[in-house]
Parts: sequence; structure tokens; C-alpha cells
Amino acid sequence: MSETANDVVAFIGLGNMGTPMSSRLVRAGFPVRAFDVSEDARARVREAGAVDFPSAREAVESADVVILMLPNSAIVGAVVGELLDAGALRQGAIVVDMSSSEPLATRELAARLEGAGVGMVDAPVSGGVKGAVNGTLTIMTGGPDSLVERVAPVLAPLGKAVHAGAIGAGHAVKALNNLLSATHLWVTSEAIEIGKGFGLDPAVMLQIFNGSSGRSGSTENKWPNFILPGTFDSGFGLRLMLKDMKIAVQLAGATDGPSRLGQSAVELWELAAEGLEPTADHTEVARWIAEHHEER
Ligand code: NAD
Repeated sequence: MSETANDVVAFIGLGNMGTPMSSRLVRAGFPVRAFDVSEDARARVREAGAVDFPSAREAVESADVVILMLPNSAIVGAVVGELLDAGALRQGAIVVDMSSSEPLATRELAARLEGAGVGMVDAPVSGGVKGAVNGTLTIMTGGPDSLVERVAPVLAPLGKAVHAGAIGAGHAVKALNNLLSATHLWVTSEAIEIGKGFGLDPAVMLQIFNGSSGRSGSTENKWPNFILPGTFDSGFGLRLMLKDMKIAVQLAGATDGPSRLGQSAVELWELAAEGLEPTADHTEVARWIAEHHEER
């Protein structure tokens, strides 16, 4: 066990990602103090060996590193705000926001935390539930070198970290990655529908795309594993994907960047979201495209 495996870790947000991630930290030898508003989620991590608490305030007591894996920036801001108001975070503790949050809100939150003597690193991830289970996530860190290095041993059991830049940089690149991913998934699904209309077999098309320049995470992973088998169970919600796309397009607005295709992609995904269940998996967008492609 490394010296810092003695770090006490608080883990807040035990959903599709947070449950396997916190379980990996337990298995790596970290004492994990866990909280989620859902009692079912707390019971799951208790079984995995974490100690669960009925509030975030109690979970972060004595924690050196506080990991957040929450749905969005608004919730991250509310949880951290409550912890700050209650004076619950230890001086010198580091908050690591692994959620896919808004980079500009992250900068503001880091400044608030700094005022209370608490450090912050943003460390969103890609690699999905499978990557969380296997500890093969790509972790995009943002923050000062010293803090990023300080939390590196805690992140190591979760995946491979790349230091993207200053605070908020991880959240910015994560949103941009998902804008790419969502745009690829949409156009791949349209291409496959067109091919089917011409009598092509989707499995054969994917085999050819994957040996050609049209390949992407959508052709190599999402279509073969979740769409072609009709399971639509990647574990990443459509609404979470749409949130990330909007963060990327807002970032374009804030930086005077280009976003013509990005904005169109957001509008298309919003249409699909209106027609699908609130809990729909993001891969269900392919089913929606197949069923609605004749509508203009
Ligand atoms: P999820 O909806 O499965 O889990 C979120 C958890 O947060 C839930 O258990 C919920 O009860 C809990 N929660 C909500 N409000 C809370 C609060 N105030 N206090 C404590 N707990 C609270 O979401 P997820 O799929 O695990 O995603 C978490 C984050 O990771 C999101 O920001 C998402 O965009 C990002 N992400 C998800 C995936 C994926 O494949 N699922 C991949 C990469 C990044």
C-alpha cells in the first residue's frame, strides 16, 4: 500500500459511475466514506466495503480527498455550498470533482473553496461504466500541478490521468469530447439507416467503417455493443450527454469559438430527448433516428 493509500476518501454520488469507482478505491485499500441521497445506492457501496453516512456533511468529516461524481454543476455547487456553509471540510482537504461539470462554474467554485483553505481539482472521466468497473477510465485533470500530483495516487486505481491544464480544463475537454462523441453517434446512425435503405447489412457496414476513416467510438463500441444487439444499456443517460453537449456549445459562446455543427447537434439531440423517456440511455438516440427519419 502506498503512503497515500492512508488518505481518507469521501465519495459523494454513487450512481452508475460512482458505485464501481468507489468500490475500486475500497479494493485499493483506501478508507472510503460514502454518501448519496439514494438509500439504495448507499446500501450497494456498503456491501462493497465502504462506510456510508446519512449526509454529505458527515461523510466528509476527516476526509483528505473528497470525490464528487454527481449529475451536474448545479448539484455539485449545491453540495459544496452546503459543506462550506457548515464548515464541514477540513483545512487542506482537496475536493476532486469527477462529474462532467461546467468549466466556468468550476473555476468559481475553486475560488470559493480556496477562500476556505480547501483545494480543488477537476477530474472528469470517459470510458463509461465498463471503464469505471475495470479501472480503465481516461481521467482529465485540471488544477495546479501540486494538487493534481497530490491526488494522483487516489485516482490511479480508477484509470489513466492526463493533466489537461489549469482548473476547469478537465471539464472543458470532457464537454468537447462528448460533443464529438454525440455528433459521431448521430451521423453514424444516419449513415447506417441510409445503408439499410440500400439493402446493406449494418454489421457489415460497421466492419468496413472500422477498417476505414469513418471509424469512431460510435462505430467501434456503441453501435456493436449496445445498438446492434438492441440492449441500449451503456449506462450513460441521454440527458447527461445532452448536458455535456450544451456545456461545450456554451463554452464556444464564452470563448467566441465556432459552434455551427455543435449547435445543430444540440438541437437534434433535444428533439430526440423530447421523444424518449427521461431515463433513456444515450444509445437510444439511434432507435429514435431509425423511427423518425422521415420527419423533417
Ligand atoms: P447517475 O445518475 O447514475 O448517478 C448520479 C448519482 O448522484 C445518483 O446516485 C444520485 O442519487 C446522486 N445524487 C444526486 N443528487 C445528489 C446530492 N445532492 N447528493 C448526493 N448524491 C446525489 O449518473 P452517472 O451516470 O453515474 O454520472 C455521474 C457523472 O458522471 C455525470 O456528471 C455524468 O455526466 C458523468 N459521466 C457518466 C458516464 C457514464 O457512462 N454513465 C461516463 C462519463 C461521465
